[in-house]
Amino acid sequence: MTTLFISDLHLADDRPDIGAQFVDFLEGEARKAEALYILGDLFESWVGDDDPNAHYAAVKQALRALVDSGVPTYFMHGNRDFMIGEKFAAETGVTILDDPTVVELYGDPVLLCHGDAMCIDDVEYQKVRVMTRNPQWQAMMLQKPLEERVAIAAHARMQSQQHSASVSEDIMDVNRDAVAATFREHDVSIMLHGHTHRPAVHKVDLGDREATRIVLGDWYEQGSVVRWDETGPRLEVLPR
Ligand code: MN
Repeated sequence: MTTLFISDLHLADDRPDIGAQFVDFLEGEARKAEALYILGDLFESWVGDDDPNAHYAAVKQALRALVDSGVPTYFMHGNRDFMIGEKFAAETGVTILDDPTVVELYGDPVLLCHGDAMCIDDVEYQKVRVMTRNPQWQAMMLQKPLEERVAIAAHARMQSQQHSASVSEDIMDVNRDAVAATFREHDVSIMLHGHTHRPAVHKVDLGDREATRIVLGDWYEQGSVVRWDETGPRLEVLPR
């Protein structure tokens, strides 16, 4: 049996093609999986579980159907959908995982994370990350009317795009020392994450051992998946 990993779909109602591919994936390959892990940024933005957005409702329904078919499905927050909460989890049946989480896969402990916590060279970004992950800040946001939250999220996305355009590619990637520290802190030799949209399998020299860092890609033009079974992980493309 195969365990599946995806991240960074950035589902949005102005990109129905991504949503259609995701629903096909949930109704197809995922039904035969041992488990599905979604490592953040499933949605382009998430203003609260009370959002009645029809596109998101269809996605929730497809997740529910997968869970009901008997496939355990896990979700970790990304930097776009960090407001996904208990209501979403109850509606879909997915289990929300902490970032990071270590799971055992076919005998190996594997660290799963969204990836943004290791992008420490981007100081401005990390400040925003600390603010938005604060439960008090989130509770304050959820008090606001839905339309106001939608407007705030749109503004934040625009600011994020301006920021991304203004800092170098290197700054926005993971920091090498942060990667090594993460491997050591959790005493693992394999990690899997998304966020950077730079799909690759990296060998990392930790001095005493070699570790592997697998990076999932985004779903903007095609899907990206890691298929993991007894023979190990394979990072592959899902053609659209
Ligand atoms: Mn991200």
